[in-house]
Amino acid sequence: MGGIDYGVGRNPPLLVNLTQNGRSHRTEISKALGDRKMQYSRATVGQVQLDEYVAVVPKIYSAHDQNRSIWDVWCHTLHHGAAVAERIRKKAPADKLFTEVADFTLWLLTTVYKLSGKPGKRKTAAETPAEMLVRIGSGCSDLLWHRYPGVCHLCYARRMKITEGSKGRRNLVDPCDCSEQSPDGRDKKTKRLDSSSLRKFSEANRGRKPKTIDDWQAMFAAIFGADIKQLSRADIGLHLMEELGEVSDALVRMYSYTKKDFRAGEPNWRQARLEGQIADVFSWLFALVHKVNEAEPVTLSEIVWRRYGSDRLQAFRCPSCDRVVCSCRLIFIPATRPTKEWLQKFQTQRRTRRAK
Ligand SMILES: [Zn+2]
Ligand SMILES: [Zn+2]
Repeated sequence: MGGIDYGVGRNPPLLVNLTQNGRSHRTEISKALGDRKMQYSRATVGQVQLDEYVAVVPKIYSAHDQNRSIWDVWCHTLHHGAAVAERIRKKAPADKLFTEVADFTLWLLTTVYKLSGKPGKRKTAAETPAEMLVRIGSGCSDLLWHRYPGVCHLCYARRMKITEGSKGRRNLVDPCDCSEQSPDGRDKKTKRLDSSSLRKFSEANRGRKPKTIDDWQAMFAAIFGADIKQLSRADIGLHLMEELGEVSDALVRMYSYTKKDFRAGEPNWRQARLEGQIADVFSWLFALVHKVNEAEPVTLSEIVWRRYGSDRLQAFRCPSCDRVVCSCRLIFIPATRPTKEWLQKFQTQRRTRRAK
């Protein structure tokens, strides 16, 4: 069986005092991740790298996730994204909003985890051939940096086209000023040329890429902070939903093409687009947290820890069963129970029909 090997629980814990050893030591340890169990706490969780979040947080549900397709995981992501929007609309208290933001983040990280891998290469036994084509080529922090290398990608494209020395020219990495500009009307070809240029810029400036999850939050605040001040929580919730829709589109376009589009290089462009859209979702997630932060100081790392972290276990864990790898009893048909059994349970409906 080709289940996902998460490594958790099979290796002795790596005992490190993170508060003593600090950030550089943590980075070193991160490299050893995959075959070691890490220790986390409320105090250090903001200093954890984003890629480590992708490697660690989805592990909580690793046993169940083997039975989930990418579509299953994405439906859950959409569900909690929509629930975030609902809580915003109903002006729910902060703790209720945070629970949904944490759940949404967990599923989003699980999506990134599920999508990583080689196109065409099977990761779990249950993967369908089409699902094996829906893959991203970059890690989470890379796909974010390629889209937001210390600058808004739309601002970058616009600023590059203004000739040096002319009046409208600004420093490339100045904060976003998209709200003062006319809407983005670029065609597909121009967008692709711009994204190639942006990619070169992000590679050349790789040394400036934020390291920890809190560093990412600070970077997005520096780019979009002024813009976010002008937006309501509802505006941000709508933007987040819009980006989730765009990821949905980018996902299905990994394996569905028109005859004209089905040519060499096209899957690469589509993969880059998918990665860019996922980056946009993260940017609006950070924007939402930043908006809430205007009213009460909070970080995304803190929101996730409040729901999934345990200071007692020094680990991320399932809030229902309190286990590092969730052991809540879930039934997946046909993976863990036969379809026949499900059909028997469906009888009530059939009887009703017969009675008519
Ligand atoms: Zn901008
Ligand atoms: Zn559980």
